[in-house]
Amino acid sequence: MWFEVFSFFVGVFFSHAAFRIPFLLFPRMKSWNEQFTSHPEPVNVDGELLLRVLHMRNFYYLGLFFTFIPLIFGWLTIQYGNAPLGFGLWLSSGWLLISNISSPLAGEGPPWTKTLAMKLQLVRNEAESDKSCCQFPAPVWEVTAVRCAICRKILLNEPRPDLGRPRSDGKIKGLFLLILSGGRPLVSLNEEE
Ligand SMILES: [Zn+2]
Repeated sequence: MWFEVFSFFVGVFFSHAAFRIPFLLFPRMKSWNEQFTSHPEPVNVDGELLLRVLHMRNFYYLGLFFTFIPLIFGWLTIQYGNAPLGFGLWLSSGWLLISNISSPLAGEGPPWTKTLAMKLQLVRNEAESDKSCCQFPAPVWEVTAVRCAICRKILLNEPRPDLGRPRSDGKIKGLFLLILSGGRPLVSLNEEE
């Protein structure tokens, strides 16, 4: 009994891991991150960051193709091998596919969106305009919000999702956290100024 339950959850875990392969692995190469400060330090809000947000979004959707691997493998495993494992693989990858295809309708989706990139662009525009927070504005994205590094004013109240930088919390722990969180911010505080 316990072995079946264990097999089922191994299947569920592997489907989630497969779905997240593109955003877990592709952006994390060192040469891809030289323009950014290292994790978990604040990131400058600039063109590179906007581009990264859009790339992360693409990697997220690329993950849907990777979900077909556990879907097919799960079906084969149900037919010819360990049924609980196959069922875990098949059920969770099927669920991931359905929920992600329908997520734009439900108003859910990846933590990296075009709207988010647009909000960041507005922060940049404002920093360069007469309405800037201080004389030398320097917007940086901290864990909980975008703040000005000089005057500390909150410029955008959005917690920072994973940005594909190599993790400071170690490869294994970082990987595990990302598989569970899907890159969503792990904190969300509503700070008020
Ligand atoms: Zn400022």
